[in-house]
Amino acid sequence: MGKKRPVTIILALVCAAALASGAVYGALSKEYTGSFTAMDTYNTVKVRGADAKKALSSVSEITSELDTALLSRHSDTSAVNEINLNRGGRIPEELAPYLDTLFEVYEKSGGAFDFTLGTLTDLWGIGTENERVPSDDEIKKALALTGADKLDYTDGKIKFPEGISLDFGAAGKGIALDEIEKEFGREKISRAVVSLGGSIMLYGSGEFTVGIKDPRSAGYMAVLTLGDCFVSTSGNYERYFEKDGVRYHHILDPGTGYPVNSGLAGVTVIAPGGTLSDALSTACFVLGREKGETLCKEFGCEAVFVYEDGGVYATDGVKDSLEITDDYYRAEGVK
Ligand code: AMP
Ligand code: MG
Repeated sequence: MGKKRPVTIILALVCAAALASGAVYGALSKEYTGSFTAMDTYNTVKVRGADAKKALSSVSEITSELDTALLSRHSDTSAVNEINLNRGGRIPEELAPYLDTLFEVYEKSGGAFDFTLGTLTDLWGIGTENERVPSDDEIKKALALTGADKLDYTDGKIKFPEGISLDFGAAGKGIALDEIEKEFGREKISRAVVSLGGSIMLYGSGEFTVGIKDPRSAGYMAVLTLGDCFVSTSGNYERYFEKDGVRYHHILDPGTGYPVNSGLAGVTVIAPGGTLSDALSTACFVLGREKGETLCKEFGCEAVFVYEDGGVYATDGVKDSLEITDDYYRAEGVK
């Protein structure tokens, strides 16, 4: 696997800090904190409850195991790698419900979120030592090898033409958070903030404050006050390279094969599940504000759209929960 750039961790750190400022805890409940690297990102955990110490290690184990055994395209031992090599195979039982969600987001987003972009993302190599601007012809050929509509998925088995490569990069961290939530449900955990790269789970009762990273700097530009939910951010500042003054970033438009260029710098989605928040944040970044908002409504989710020019648009359900903290940014679309 190529060398990856260090990804942005500010959002994660800000969010992890959130637990301390959030709400009321049981007086005797001790908080445990930890950090680990998995899924190519730096991850943080804060957890309270009788089983908190145990939960701390389950979080890193679940995330690493999910990556190497199931989701990573670059792990020799993963189910997805094997499926890609064999142009199909049986979908592991634990992955099946998540795959259903991904198909649904693919369809409802009109293909803006597409988990079959592996051949195209390899061509660009963004975040690896092979990153480059491919020719139009190469992009055209790679695009012919994308599209979840080319997959035949029946009775738990998937089949697809040679050259297609499944890529769960846009939803893997969300899937891991859903698995972690299940584990917390079996343990005595009262409250937790788990931050895997740009995806965060806020678990337990009371309020949490979550920082939205400033696309232009290392700090954050706004704060959301939320209850228990999942929050994912997709941004053009996370992984990119520059050539001849143009920034080529890692979120690709499956329609053109090029990095999305819509004036958006980042989109944060608030959802009841991790897979959903992660897939929707990528979809919304591709679709832009209007279509993205419609898509979020279909799933009962909320979003904050941050533009390069400083405009910030929050959907109705989170407008009152958002506080912009950096002067460069201004709220738009407030009725
Ligand atoms: P995220 O940061 O969650 O938005 O995911 C971005 C990652 O998902 C990229 O690094 C690619 O591996 C993959 N990706 C890029 N564009 C798309 C897209 N339109 N749909 C699905 N996955 C994508
Ligand atoms: Mg995503």
